[in-house]
Amino acid sequence: MAASDFSRMIAAAADTIAAHAEELTALDQAIGDGDHGLNMKRGFEAVRAEADAFAAKPLPEALKAVGTKLVMTVGGASGPLFGTLFMTLGKDLPAAPDRNGLTAALGKAIEAVAARGKSQPGQKTMLDVLQPVYEALAQGRTTSEIVNAADKAAEATVPMKALRGRASFLGERSIGHMDPGARSTALLVRAVAEAIE
Ligand code: ADP
Ligand code: MG
Ligand code: MG
Repeated sequence: MAASDFSRMIAAAADTIAAHAEELTALDQAIGDGDHGLNMKRGFEAVRAEADAFAAKPLPEALKAVGTKLVMTVGGASGPLFGTLFMTLGKDLPAAPDRNGLTAALGKAIEAVAARGKSQPGQKTMLDVLQPVYEALAQGRTTSEIVNAADKAAEATVPMKALRGRASFLGERSIGHMDPGARSTALLVRAVAEAIE
């Protein structure tokens, strides 16, 4: 991937998080502590500030740098989890990944997030978007199909009962609200997919 493509991807991710920060915060106010928009915005603006330096590295190193920065800046439960996602992607992606390489690396990254979060799909978290995106990639879906699958997957967290994270403290009362981390993940999937298309 060219450095300019990587910078464009970072800018797209940071832009969408900034544009939806209030929405993410509102979702987290309903079933969490209301900081998800702020957490994500702080993290992705920190990544944006170093995008050019990161983009100058080989792709695996650039992704690891993004993950490390997110761990340091996002905070909350989601910071280490998004950090793990990008760091593991960096570890497992070849320098010039094709679709199969990307799919395999995302699979590993999802496993690492699940291990770190002691979580699995079905528990109303970011994994409920990541897993369907992985499956869509593995099935050879088009970019727009993958983006739609991510949006649908975030919507599908609405009727779920949260079993991990702060929202799980609400038990049944977590039902009827979209998971903020699922929404932010879907936003990132769209931004990145459209930027590298
Ligand atoms: P905090 O809950 O610490 O305030 P955030 O609000 O930034 O952190 O992030 C909350 C999001 O993190 C949730 O919406 C959920 O998607 C995700 N999350 C929380 N705990 C876990 C977990 N154990 N596994 C996977 N994702 C999780
Ligand atoms: Mg929160
Ligand atoms: Mg918090």
